[in-house]
Amino acid sequence: MAFVLQIRNIPEGNSCQRFQLPGDQFHLDYEGIESAGDLTVWGDVSKFKDQLIFRGQLSLPVRLVCARCAGQFERTIESELIFVLKFVPDQAEGVLEEGESEDFYFLPEGTLEFDCTDLIRDRVILSVGLKPLCREDCKGICPLCGTNLNIKECSCEKEDIDDRWLPLKDLTDRS
Ligand SMILES: [Zn+2]
Ligand SMILES: [Zn+2]
Repeated sequence: MAFVLQIRNIPEGNSCQRFQLPGDQFHLDYEGIESAGDLTVWGDVSKFKDQLIFRGQLSLPVRLVCARCAGQFERTIESELIFVLKFVPDQAEGVLEEGESEDFYFLPEGTLEFDCTDLIRDRVILSVGLKPLCREDCKGICPLCGTNLNIKECSCEKEDIDDRWLPLKDLTDRS
């Protein structure tokens, strides 16, 4: 399910808003990141006739796969969430002003709800990063026997070779 902001329920002017969506109702649809708890979004909202500004945060516990040992682990993602909705007459929809940030959306006047799912997904993916680690000093998996070195040591003989020199070593072996 998606996270949809009910614009019609937000009072005109400035207000503080807090939304919570049970984790089993919010799906990120992104490989390697699964929601593992409630999504919470809170912040200051300024709503006027022609625009809505949201300045706040999001928090979401997620289940991730370690890039080094492939083990599953949980982490709570916290991220800033800022976006601006501009309400414009129909024909102007989708026209972006030069230099505006991408979290700037033009919507037809009278729009009653706004789906924040993509916005939240982007924030979460960015916070997780390319190589999530179960812990900073994760020892990973032995490339020879597959033992998870966080759990136990293996007895494989490991040549201490910097990865970057492996192609070179390969060449020397062949010659
Ligand atoms: Zn790990
Ligand atoms: Zn080993």
